[in-house]
Amino acid sequence: MKSLQLTDFGKPLQWNEYETPEPVGKEVLVKVSACGVCHSDLHIWEGYYELGGEERIYVKERGVNLPLTMGHEVVGVVEAAGPDVTGVKPGDKRLVYPWVGCGTCKYCRSERPQMCSKPRSLGVYTNGGYSSHVLVPDAQYLVNIDGLRDEQACSYACAGLTAYSALKKAMPLESDETLVLVGAGGLGLMAVQVVRELTDARVIMMDIDDEKLETVRSLTPGVETLNTSQKDAVSTIMEMTANAGANAVIDFVNNEHTAKASFGMLAKNGQMIMVGLFGGKLTFPTPVPALKNQTIRGSYTGSLVELRELIDIIKEKDLRPVPVKTYPMDEAASLLDRVKDGKIIGRAVLTP
Ligand SMILES: [Zn+2]
Ligand SMILES: [Zn+2]
Repeated sequence: MKSLQLTDFGKPLQWNEYETPEPVGKEVLVKVSACGVCHSDLHIWEGYYELGGEERIYVKERGVNLPLTMGHEVVGVVEAAGPDVTGVKPGDKRLVYPWVGCGTCKYCRSERPQMCSKPRSLGVYTNGGYSSHVLVPDAQYLVNIDGLRDEQACSYACAGLTAYSALKKAMPLESDETLVLVGAGGLGLMAVQVVRELTDARVIMMDIDDEKLETVRSLTPGVETLNTSQKDAVSTIMEMTANAGANAVIDFVNNEHTAKASFGMLAKNGQMIMVGLFGGKLTFPTPVPALKNQTIRGSYTGSLVELRELIDIIKEKDLRPVPVKTYPMDEAASLLDRVKDGKIIGRAVLTP
């Protein structure tokens, strides 16, 4: 088995060769056919998340150990299964749910392992998909994606799931209400792709890049776009909503500028959902959420149940695909640089 590994934070990834593991117990060995590159891979590679000011969270202190094979958006073919595996057999194609937990706590037992306090997420805490193979601890983390293309399906494991779970938290929204989405990167586009399956509300996507906003309009007609590079986001949304504000804002960027704007445009009884990991600090007058009955919350990835729901929607509905570009796995490092520059439209996917 060959794996492209992070051996030193911030240094070029390195190919290492290991003996291909033999699955034991409930483990399943998956041969990787596509692996999405996620913005959070960039944070792991660099070794930290920005908290605003000079403060950082170091991933090493959060339990990330090197060498590590990154990659948590994996589609592959089952190559071997441990003796206790049921439900899959060699040759089956599956999407890997990467947000694996301890397996025994109440969250893990109810298929919400993304909230486990002892995470073993693939590509974050254990080896992931920048590799010829990935070892999945249990077949329950494998999702059937029959009929979907590998390079389209893989990004539903993180970007798609994160967007879907955040959208669900914003629901219900009525047709005369407004949902603002901030940031038309991979997550934002995934949200735009499925948003009409969840609500008839008015949807406005904000970004500072016209090309990305163009992609939003072509993906789901009827979704409005707003370029905030030259305009004040809060006053423009207030104008667009006759001063009512946004009933829900999902901030896929969540840096100090976008979080401030998201809070500022929130309607009475509105909900602000913080998703992005771009980093920063938010200060606000504490009486405002109380007086306006507002909710500020976060959303991290999503549950196994939500991933299956999302894949069912994608299989059943004839939604327009989010743009995807594939690259050979060798190009992972240069790709991470382009992710950092924000140059990617849609999703970048590595193939062996
Ligand atoms: Zn991710
Ligand atoms: Zn657990």
